[in-house]
Amino acid sequence: MKSAIVLGAGMIGVATAVHLQQRGWSVVLLDRKEPGLETSYANAGIIQSEAVRPYAMSHDWRELARIALGRSNEVRCRLAGLSRHLGPLLSYWLHSFPVRHTRASEAYAQIIGCAIPEHEVFIRQSNACNLIRCDGFRVLYRRQSALEAAVAAAESCRQAYGVKFSLLTAGELKKAEPALADAGVGALHWLEPWAVLDPGALVCAYADLFTRLGGRLVRGDARSLAKSGSGGWSVIAEDGRLEADAAVVALGPWSPDLLKRFGYRFPMVRKRGYYRHYEGGSRLDLPLCDSANGYVVAPMAKGVRITTGAELTAPSAKPNFSQLAHAEQAARKMIMLGRPLEPEPGYGTRPCMPDMLPVVGAAPHHPGLWLHFGHGHQGFTLGPATGRLIAELMTDKVSMIDPLPYRPERYWHN
Ligand SMILES: Cc1cc2nc3c(=O)[nH]c(=O)nc-3n(C[C@H](O)[C@H](O)[C@H](O)COP(=O)(O)OP(=O)(O)OC[C@H]3O[C@@H](n4cnc5c(N)ncnc54)[C@H](O)[C@@H]3O)c2cc1C
Repeated sequence: MKSAIVLGAGMIGVATAVHLQQRGWSVVLLDRKEPGLETSYANAGIIQSEAVRPYAMSHDWRELARIALGRSNEVRCRLAGLSRHLGPLLSYWLHSFPVRHTRASEAYAQIIGCAIPEHEVFIRQSNACNLIRCDGFRVLYRRQSALEAAVAAAESCRQAYGVKFSLLTAGELKKAEPALADAGVGALHWLEPWAVLDPGALVCAYADLFTRLGGRLVRGDARSLAKSGSGGWSVIAEDGRLEADAAVVALGPWSPDLLKRFGYRFPMVRKRGYYRHYEGGSRLDLPLCDSANGYVVAPMAKGVRITTGAELTAPSAKPNFSQLAHAEQAARKMIMLGRPLEPEPGYGTRPCMPDMLPVVGAAPHHPGLWLHFGHGHQGFTLGPATGRLIAELMTDKVSMIDPLPYRPERYWHN
């Protein structure tokens, strides 16, 4: 029986561990915390089957000027400590030009197309149906021109990839969401995505499935990863040293730091996003993105959750809650929000690769070392799909999709 140590128990690591265990591997899943407490907790909880085109950077100079002047709430930039991220950011910007973005979208649409079917299997096997709503989510617009542009983009996704949406007038949106005081000029309703009522709980349900299948969940520091004498890999867990034939790095935003020790320099754009829950106010039926103010408000088990857009800052920078404060102010004009549940907002970090595609495959120079990270804006969506892909690659089976666009070698010269 082959054995593996999976490093990181976010959505990506847990999904990898389940797929390997189901394929007959003996798997240990290691994290310094309980599963699903970092970025895989701190998100909007949408399984985004509509996200067939990865999130690109804007090339519109007016939009870039708004970001630079701090007038956009969708993207905030904190210059202090950002200088060493300029290379990855520039590369991301270059990859966002139409020719490259179209190429990335062709690959991305394929893996996004596997996301709901793969989650569906895990959700059934882990008895987590109570955490899921299958009615999509909505995006509210405040200017007619913005709504028209969004409809044109959605229509092109429908034609190219078959994703389904409907257009709601302000009156129709108000009827669907009576709690809204302000319905803007209308909304786009993506009909097929699924909404998760507690993202961290879904990761825990998948982790429970993993242990029920015979997998072992352990606490430890991934930075202890080393080549073992027997040609495999070892880590130091709380209860001692562990060895396995293979190791999978699934540490989300922390992955590049670990891999530097092995000589790999992966460029990553880390986009922070803040969240907070509110209780005692009115509730929405489905998650709603307020596009003009760059946040999502979602009904969740713990109350209503606000999650913000991207803050580009140094990974170690102290939290700055102004983006969330702006979102909260805008949300209070839209619904009765109630009182904050946590004393302070929390945050997670979207691990974004400059070419907008995750890294899935074998480490070029280290037999038995596998890489699985960089899922950016859609890691919560993609975990079970790319988890299956990497498990298939590790098991030498024909893979469900072409793995070439995700291969780590595309960055190996860095
Ligand atoms: C505000 C916000 C909203 C989002 N909304 C959505 C959404 O609606 N839909 C969607 O699909 N995606 C969304 N995302 C993106 C998604 O949350 C991430 O892509 C995804 O959670 C990344 O998962 P991961 O497992 O790679 O990373 P993580 O969940 O961060 O997991 C990494 C794990 O590694 C562990 N770790 C790190 N260092 C060590 C170490 N040294 N030793 C041991 N363990 C270690 C951590 O404890 C953690 O458990 C959102 C992100 C944010 C921030």
